[in-house]
Amino acid sequence: MNKKIKLNEFADKMSENYLFKDVSLRVKRFKEDNPGFETISLGVGDVPGPLCDCVIKAAEKALSEQRDTKFFRGYGPEEGYDFARKAVAEYYERKIGAIVSPSDVFVGDGAKSAIERLLCCFSCDVVIPAPAYPAYKDCATAKGLKTIFLPKNEKNGFVPLPDGLDARNSLIVLCSPDNPTGIAYDEDVLSEWVNYALRSGSVILFDNAYERFVTSDKPRSIYTVKGAEKCAIEVGSLSKSACFTGMRFGWTIIPDGPADGAVKKIYTRILGCGYNGAPYCVQRAAEAALSDVGFDECEPTIKIFARNAAMLKNELENSGATIYGGSDSPYLWMKCPGGRTSFETFEYMLSAGGVIVTPGSGFGTAGEGFVRISALSGEENVKKALNRIKALIRTS
Ligand code: PLP
Repeated sequence: MNKKIKLNEFADKMSENYLFKDVSLRVKRFKEDNPGFETISLGVGDVPGPLCDCVIKAAEKALSEQRDTKFFRGYGPEEGYDFARKAVAEYYERKIGAIVSPSDVFVGDGAKSAIERLLCCFSCDVVIPAPAYPAYKDCATAKGLKTIFLPKNEKNGFVPLPDGLDARNSLIVLCSPDNPTGIAYDEDVLSEWVNYALRSGSVILFDNAYERFVTSDKPRSIYTVKGAEKCAIEVGSLSKSACFTGMRFGWTIIPDGPADGAVKKIYTRILGCGYNGAPYCVQRAAEAALSDVGFDECEPTIKIFARNAAMLKNELENSGATIYGGSDSPYLWMKCPGGRTSFETFEYMLSAGGVIVTPGSGFGTAGEGFVRISALSGEENVKKALNRIKALIRTS
Protein backbone atom coordinates (compact mmCIF):
# COMPACT_ATOMS: atom_id res chain seq x y z
CA MET A 1 0.00 0.00 0.00
CA ASN A 2 1.38 3.42 -0.97
CA LYS A 3 0.92 5.49 2.15
CA LYS A 4 1.68 9.21 1.73
CA ILE A 5 4.30 10.67 4.04
CA LYS A 6 2.69 12.94 6.65
CA LEU A 7 4.16 16.43 6.58
CA ASN A 8 3.77 19.39 8.93
CA GLU A 9 0.03 20.05 8.79
CA PHE A 10 0.50 23.68 9.84
CA ALA A 11 2.91 24.59 7.01
CA ASP A 12 0.01 25.38 4.65
CA LYS A 13 -1.22 27.98 7.11
CA MET A 14 1.98 30.02 6.86
CA SER A 15 1.81 33.12 4.61
CA GLU A 16 1.81 31.98 1.00
CA ASN A 17 4.63 34.29 0.01
CA TYR A 18 7.22 35.35 2.46
CA LEU A 19 7.16 39.11 2.00
CA PHE A 20 10.79 39.79 1.20
CA LYS A 21 10.95 36.94 -1.30
CA ASP A 22 7.85 38.21 -3.03
CA VAL A 23 9.20 41.75 -3.26
CA SER A 24 12.57 40.63 -4.59
CA LEU A 25 10.91 38.46 -7.25
CA ARG A 26 8.89 41.41 -8.49
CA VAL A 27 11.99 43.62 -8.47
CA LYS A 28 13.99 40.96 -10.35
CA ARG A 29 11.30 40.79 -13.03
CA PHE A 30 11.25 44.61 -13.30
CA LYS A 31 15.03 44.76 -13.72
CA GLU A 32 14.98 42.09 -16.41
CA ASP A 33 12.21 43.92 -18.27
CA ASN A 34 13.90 47.33 -17.91
CA PRO A 35 17.65 46.91 -18.38
CA GLY A 36 19.48 50.21 -17.95
CA PHE A 37 16.82 51.69 -15.62
CA GLU A 38 18.62 52.39 -12.32
CA THR A 39 16.70 51.10 -9.31
CA ILE A 40 17.37 52.27 -5.74
CA SER A 41 16.41 50.03 -2.88
CA LEU A 42 14.95 51.40 0.33
CA GLY A 43 13.11 48.12 0.64
CA VAL A 44 14.31 44.99 2.41
CA GLY A 45 16.07 45.96 5.64
CA ASP A 46 19.61 44.88 4.79
CA VAL A 47 22.60 47.12 5.49
CA PRO A 48 25.29 48.32 3.07
CA GLY A 49 28.14 47.62 5.57
CA PRO A 50 30.99 48.00 6.29
CA LEU A 51 32.11 45.83 9.18
CA CYS A 52 34.28 47.91 11.50
CA ASP A 53 38.04 47.41 11.85
CA CYS A 54 38.10 45.83 15.31
CA VAL A 55 35.52 43.27 14.17
CA ILE A 56 37.60 42.23 11.14
CA LYS A 57 40.75 42.03 13.27
CA ALA A 58 39.07 39.91 15.95
CA ALA A 59 37.58 37.53 13.36
CA GLU A 60 40.90 37.20 11.51
CA LYS A 61 42.80 36.55 14.73
CA ALA A 62 40.28 33.95 15.88
CA LEU A 63 40.49 32.22 12.53
CA SER A 64 44.27 32.24 12.18
CA GLU A 65 44.66 30.82 15.70
CA GLN A 66 43.00 27.69 14.37
CA ARG A 67 46.17 26.76 12.43
CA ASP A 68 47.63 25.62 15.73
CA THR A 69 46.08 22.55 17.36
CA LYS A 70 46.91 24.17 20.71
CA PHE A 71 44.32 26.88 19.99
CA PHE A 72 41.99 24.90 17.76
CA ARG A 73 38.31 25.16 18.66
CA GLY A 74 35.96 22.37 17.78
CA TYR A 75 32.39 22.14 19.02
CA GLY A 76 31.66 24.97 21.40
CA PRO A 77 28.94 25.33 24.01
CA GLU A 78 25.55 25.60 22.27
CA GLU A 79 24.56 28.55 24.48
CA GLY A 80 27.72 30.41 23.38
CA TYR A 81 31.20 30.89 24.82
CA ASP A 82 31.36 32.56 28.23
CA PHE A 83 33.32 35.51 26.79
CA ALA A 84 30.50 36.26 24.31
CA ARG A 85 27.73 35.91 26.91
CA LYS A 86 29.69 38.21 29.21
CA ALA A 87 30.25 40.72 26.37
CA VAL A 88 26.47 40.97 25.83
CA ALA A 89 25.76 41.36 29.56
CA GLU A 90 28.44 44.04 29.92
CA TYR A 91 27.13 45.88 26.85
CA TYR A 92 23.69 46.00 28.52
CA GLU A 93 25.18 47.41 31.69
CA ARG A 94 27.44 49.99 30.01
CA LYS A 95 25.36 51.14 27.06
CA ILE A 96 21.74 50.34 27.89
CA GLY A 97 21.71 50.70 31.66
CA ALA A 98 20.14 47.30 32.32
CA ILE A 99 21.57 44.63 34.60
CA VAL A 100 21.61 41.23 32.96
CA SER A 101 23.40 38.12 34.20
CA PRO A 102 25.74 36.44 31.67
CA SER A 103 24.20 33.12 32.69
CA ASP A 104 20.83 34.37 31.36
CA VAL A 105 22.37 35.22 27.96
CA PHE A 106 22.30 32.68 25.11
CA VAL A 107 24.18 33.76 22.00
CA GLY A 108 23.59 32.42 18.53
CA ASP A 109 23.36 33.15 14.84
CA GLY A 110 20.87 36.02 14.96
CA ALA A 111 17.57 37.18 16.39
CA LYS A 112 15.40 35.51 13.78
CA SER A 113 16.55 31.98 14.55
CA ALA A 114 16.37 32.81 18.26
CA ILE A 115 12.69 33.72 17.80
CA GLU A 116 12.09 30.46 15.95
CA ARG A 117 13.70 28.44 18.75
CA LEU A 118 11.97 30.43 21.47
CA LEU A 119 8.57 29.66 20.00
CA CYS A 120 9.41 25.96 20.40
CA CYS A 121 9.24 26.58 24.17
CA PHE A 122 5.52 27.47 24.13
CA SER A 123 2.20 25.77 23.45
CA CYS A 124 0.08 28.84 24.27
CA ASP A 125 -1.58 31.55 22.16
CA VAL A 126 0.74 34.16 20.70
CA VAL A 127 -0.39 37.80 20.83
CA ILE A 128 1.14 39.87 18.05
CA PRO A 129 0.52 43.60 17.63
CA ALA A 130 0.16 43.96 13.86
CA PRO A 131 1.48 45.00 11.39
CA ALA A 132 4.55 43.06 12.51
CA TYR A 133 7.84 41.51 11.45
CA PRO A 134 6.52 38.44 9.54
CA ALA A 135 8.68 35.86 11.33
CA TYR A 136 6.59 36.09 14.53
CA LYS A 137 3.40 34.91 12.85
CA ASP A 138 5.02 32.46 10.45
CA CYS A 139 7.15 30.73 13.10
CA ALA A 140 4.19 30.51 15.50
CA THR A 141 1.90 29.18 12.77
CA ALA A 142 4.42 26.54 11.67
CA LYS A 143 4.36 25.22 15.23
CA GLY A 144 0.57 25.09 15.33
CA LEU A 145 0.28 27.98 17.80
CA LYS A 146 -2.79 30.19 17.61
CA THR A 147 -2.00 33.82 16.82
CA ILE A 148 -4.05 36.72 18.12
CA PHE A 149 -3.49 40.03 16.37
CA LEU A 150 -3.73 43.31 18.19
CA PRO A 151 -4.22 46.23 15.80
CA LYS A 152 -1.66 48.97 15.51
CA ASN A 153 -3.19 51.78 13.48
CA GLU A 154 -3.44 55.53 13.07
CA LYS A 155 -6.11 55.65 15.78
CA ASN A 156 -3.71 54.38 18.45
CA GLY A 157 -0.70 56.02 16.81
CA PHE A 158 0.66 52.52 16.06
CA VAL A 159 1.24 52.06 19.77
CA PRO A 160 -0.54 48.92 21.01
CA LEU A 161 -1.83 48.85 24.59
CA PRO A 162 -3.25 45.91 26.55
CA ASP A 163 -6.55 47.77 27.31
CA GLY A 164 -9.41 45.35 26.85
CA LEU A 165 -7.15 42.46 25.86
CA ASP A 166 -8.29 39.15 27.27
CA ALA A 167 -5.30 36.89 26.80
CA ARG A 168 -4.35 34.99 29.91
CA ASN A 169 -1.23 32.82 29.94
CA SER A 170 -0.14 33.93 26.49
CA LEU A 171 3.10 34.84 24.81
CA ILE A 172 3.01 38.53 23.91
CA VAL A 173 5.43 39.72 21.23
CA LEU A 174 6.57 43.34 21.42
CA CYS A 175 9.13 45.00 19.18
CA SER A 176 10.62 48.40 19.98
CA PRO A 177 11.83 50.29 18.02
CA ASP A 178 9.26 48.57 15.90
CA ASN A 179 9.62 46.94 12.53
CA PRO A 180 7.81 47.98 10.33
CA THR A 181 6.31 51.18 11.83
CA GLY A 182 9.58 52.63 13.12
CA ILE A 183 7.97 53.60 16.42
CA ALA A 184 9.77 53.23 19.75
CA TYR A 185 7.55 52.70 22.79
CA ASP A 186 8.01 54.84 25.85
CA GLU A 187 8.50 53.61 29.40
CA ASP A 188 4.83 54.03 30.40
CA VAL A 189 3.67 51.88 27.50
CA LEU A 190 6.16 49.11 28.27
CA SER A 191 5.30 49.35 31.95
CA GLU A 192 1.62 48.76 31.13
CA TRP A 193 2.60 45.67 29.17
CA VAL A 194 4.82 44.33 31.94
CA ASN A 195 2.02 44.82 34.48
CA TYR A 196 -0.45 43.15 32.14
CA ALA A 197 1.89 40.16 31.66
CA LEU A 198 2.35 39.84 35.41
CA ARG A 199 -1.41 40.06 36.03
CA SER A 200 -2.37 37.63 33.28
CA GLY A 201 0.34 35.00 33.74
CA SER A 202 1.77 35.85 30.32
CA VAL A 203 5.32 36.09 29.05
CA ILE A 204 6.59 38.98 26.91
CA LEU A 205 8.95 38.28 24.03
CA PHE A 206 10.66 41.63 23.50
CA ASP A 207 12.53 42.14 20.24
CA ASN A 208 15.07 44.94 20.55
CA ALA A 209 16.92 44.37 17.25
CA TYR A 210 16.89 48.15 16.63
CA GLU A 211 17.85 49.43 20.11
CA ARG A 212 20.99 51.12 18.82
CA PHE A 213 18.82 53.59 16.90
CA VAL A 214 17.14 55.03 20.00
CA THR A 215 18.50 58.52 20.59
CA SER A 216 15.64 59.76 22.79
CA ASP A 217 15.15 58.64 26.40
CA LYS A 218 12.87 55.75 25.38
CA PRO A 219 13.80 52.30 26.75
CA ARG A 220 16.35 50.29 24.78
CA SER A 221 15.62 47.08 26.63
CA ILE A 222 12.57 45.69 28.41
CA TYR A 223 14.84 45.13 31.42
CA THR A 224 14.98 48.86 32.15
CA VAL A 225 11.27 48.53 33.02
CA LYS A 226 10.38 47.56 36.59
CA GLY A 227 9.25 43.95 37.00
CA ALA A 228 10.29 42.85 33.48
CA GLU A 229 12.78 40.27 34.76
CA LYS A 230 9.81 38.35 36.18
CA CYS A 231 7.93 38.02 32.90
CA ALA A 232 10.04 38.97 29.88
CA ILE A 233 12.45 37.38 27.48
CA GLU A 234 14.46 39.58 25.11
CA VAL A 235 16.12 38.97 21.77
CA GLY A 236 18.77 41.25 20.30
CA SER A 237 21.06 41.34 17.32
CA LEU A 238 24.17 42.94 15.85
CA SER A 239 22.65 42.80 12.35
CA LYS A 240 21.70 46.44 12.08
CA SER A 241 23.85 47.97 14.83
CA ALA A 242 27.18 46.54 13.60
CA CYS A 243 26.28 45.45 10.03
CA PHE A 244 26.31 41.75 11.00
CA THR A 245 23.51 40.70 8.61
CA GLY A 246 26.02 38.42 6.87
CA MET A 247 28.20 37.57 9.88
CA ARG A 248 25.14 36.46 11.91
CA PHE A 249 25.13 37.10 15.64
CA GLY A 250 22.27 37.63 18.05
CA TRP A 251 21.24 36.79 21.58
CA THR A 252 18.37 35.70 23.77
CA ILE A 253 18.07 36.78 27.38
CA ILE A 254 16.00 34.51 29.61
CA PRO A 255 15.98 35.31 33.31
CA ASP A 256 14.67 32.82 35.85
CA GLY A 257 11.42 34.78 36.24
CA PRO A 258 9.35 33.80 33.19
CA ALA A 259 7.31 30.67 34.08
CA ASP A 260 9.47 30.21 37.21
CA GLY A 261 12.54 29.24 35.22
CA ALA A 262 10.76 26.78 32.93
CA VAL A 263 11.30 28.85 29.76
CA LYS A 264 15.03 28.97 30.42
CA LYS A 265 15.11 25.24 31.07
CA ILE A 266 13.23 24.32 27.90
CA TYR A 267 15.24 26.78 25.76
CA THR A 268 18.47 25.24 27.06
CA ARG A 269 17.11 21.81 26.19
CA ILE A 270 16.05 22.91 22.70
CA LEU A 271 19.44 24.46 22.01
CA GLY A 272 21.11 21.26 23.19
CA CYS A 273 19.11 19.05 20.87
CA GLY A 274 19.14 21.15 17.69
CA TYR A 275 22.01 23.63 17.67
CA ASN A 276 25.77 23.60 18.01
CA GLY A 277 26.41 27.27 18.64
CA ALA A 278 27.59 30.24 16.59
CA PRO A 279 31.06 29.99 14.99
CA TYR A 280 33.92 30.79 17.35
CA CYS A 281 35.37 33.49 15.08
CA VAL A 282 31.95 35.18 14.82
CA GLN A 283 31.61 35.17 18.60
CA ARG A 284 35.05 36.79 18.89
CA ALA A 285 34.02 39.35 16.24
CA ALA A 286 30.81 40.04 18.17
CA GLU A 287 32.78 40.48 21.40
CA ALA A 288 34.79 43.18 19.59
CA ALA A 289 31.65 44.86 18.19
CA LEU A 290 30.12 44.98 21.69
CA SER A 291 33.25 46.56 23.22
CA ASP A 292 33.63 50.33 23.65
CA VAL A 293 36.02 50.40 20.68
CA GLY A 294 33.50 48.50 18.54
CA PHE A 295 30.67 50.76 19.67
CA ASP A 296 32.64 53.85 18.66
CA GLU A 297 33.75 52.36 15.36
CA CYS A 298 30.12 51.53 14.44
CA GLU A 299 28.90 55.00 15.39
CA PRO A 300 29.65 56.75 12.04
CA THR A 301 27.58 54.18 10.11
CA ILE A 302 24.70 54.39 12.62
CA LYS A 303 24.84 58.18 12.33
CA ILE A 304 24.53 57.96 8.54
CA PHE A 305 21.41 55.77 8.89
CA ALA A 306 19.94 58.12 11.51
CA ARG A 307 20.66 61.20 9.34
CA ASN A 308 19.08 59.45 6.35
CA ALA A 309 15.96 58.70 8.40
CA ALA A 310 15.71 62.29 9.65
CA MET A 311 16.18 63.68 6.13
CA LEU A 312 13.55 61.32 4.67
CA LYS A 313 11.07 62.13 7.45
CA ASN A 314 11.57 65.89 7.18
CA GLU A 315 11.44 66.21 3.45
CA LEU A 316 8.62 63.73 2.88
CA GLU A 317 6.50 65.44 5.53
CA ASN A 318 7.24 68.79 3.88
CA SER A 319 6.05 67.27 0.62
CA GLY A 320 2.72 66.47 2.23
CA ALA A 321 3.25 62.80 3.06
CA THR A 322 2.01 61.31 6.34
CA ILE A 323 4.96 59.67 8.07
CA TYR A 324 5.23 57.64 11.28
CA GLY A 325 8.51 56.47 12.83
CA GLY A 326 11.90 57.53 11.54
CA SER A 327 13.09 59.18 14.78
CA ASP A 328 14.42 56.40 17.00
CA SER A 329 14.48 53.96 14.12
CA PRO A 330 15.87 53.45 10.62
CA TYR A 331 12.33 52.78 9.32
CA LEU A 332 9.65 55.20 8.16
CA TRP A 333 6.05 54.15 7.82
CA MET A 334 4.45 56.20 5.05
CA LYS A 335 0.74 56.44 4.31
CA CYS A 336 0.18 55.53 0.67
CA PRO A 337 -0.28 58.67 -1.39
CA GLY A 338 -3.25 59.04 -3.74
CA GLY A 339 -5.39 56.42 -1.99
CA ARG A 340 -3.40 53.54 -3.47
CA THR A 341 -3.05 50.18 -1.74
CA SER A 342 0.39 49.26 -0.41
CA PHE A 343 1.15 46.95 -3.31
CA GLU A 344 -0.04 49.55 -5.82
CA THR A 345 2.25 52.10 -4.15
CA PHE A 346 5.17 49.66 -4.19
CA GLU A 347 4.58 48.98 -7.88
CA TYR A 348 4.04 52.66 -8.72
CA MET A 349 7.28 53.66 -6.99
CA LEU A 350 9.15 50.88 -8.74
CA SER A 351 7.77 51.34 -12.23
CA ALA A 352 7.61 55.16 -12.30
CA GLY A 353 10.60 55.98 -10.13
CA GLY A 354 12.78 52.89 -9.87
CA VAL A 355 12.56 53.16 -6.06
CA ILE A 356 11.99 50.00 -4.06
CA VAL A 357 9.97 50.31 -0.87
CA THR A 358 8.24 47.55 1.09
CA PRO A 359 4.47 47.19 0.86
CA GLY A 360 2.91 47.47 4.31
CA SER A 361 0.42 44.68 3.64
CA GLY A 362 3.36 42.26 3.64
CA PHE A 363 3.51 42.83 7.39
CA GLY A 364 -0.08 41.66 7.78
CA THR A 365 -3.42 43.00 6.58
CA ALA A 366 -3.17 45.70 9.27
CA GLY A 367 -0.29 47.18 7.25
CA GLU A 368 -2.54 47.88 4.26
CA GLY A 369 -2.44 51.50 3.09
CA PHE A 370 1.19 52.02 4.15
CA VAL A 371 4.69 51.34 2.84
CA ARG A 372 7.88 50.93 4.83
CA ILE A 373 10.86 53.01 3.76
CA SER A 374 14.26 51.93 5.05
CA ALA A 375 17.06 54.40 5.78
CA LEU A 376 19.64 51.59 6.06
CA SER A 377 21.51 52.71 2.96
CA GLY A 378 24.28 55.03 1.79
CA GLU A 379 23.62 58.79 1.98
CA GLU A 380 23.83 59.38 -1.79
CA ASN A 381 21.42 56.53 -2.47
CA VAL A 382 18.89 57.91 -0.02
CA LYS A 383 19.15 61.46 -1.42
CA LYS A 384 18.60 60.20 -4.96
CA ALA A 385 15.65 58.02 -3.88
CA LEU A 386 14.17 60.87 -1.85
CA ASN A 387 14.07 63.21 -4.85
CA ARG A 388 12.35 60.54 -6.90
CA ILE A 389 9.79 59.78 -4.17
CA LYS A 390 9.03 63.50 -3.75
CA ALA A 391 8.38 63.79 -7.49
CA LEU A 392 6.13 60.72 -7.34
CA ILE A 393 4.16 62.16 -4.40
CA ARG A 394 3.65 65.42 -6.31
CA THR A 395 2.27 63.61 -9.35
CA SER A 396 0.17 61.02 -7.51
N1 PLP B 1 13.71 41.21 14.55
C1 PLP B 1 13.33 42.23 13.77
C2 PLP B 1 12.27 43.14 14.25
C3 PLP B 1 13.92 42.42 12.52
O1 PLP B 1 13.52 43.43 11.75
C4 PLP B 1 14.93 41.55 12.10
C5 PLP B 1 15.58 41.68 10.80
O2 PLP B 1 15.26 42.44 9.95
C6 PLP B 1 15.28 40.50 12.94
C7 PLP B 1 14.66 40.35 14.17
C8 PLP B 1 16.30 39.48 12.52
O3 PLP B 1 17.54 39.83 12.94
P1 PLP B 1 18.78 38.86 12.66
O4 PLP B 1 19.44 39.37 11.43
O5 PLP B 1 19.61 39.00 13.88
O6 PLP B 1 18.27 37.47 12.49
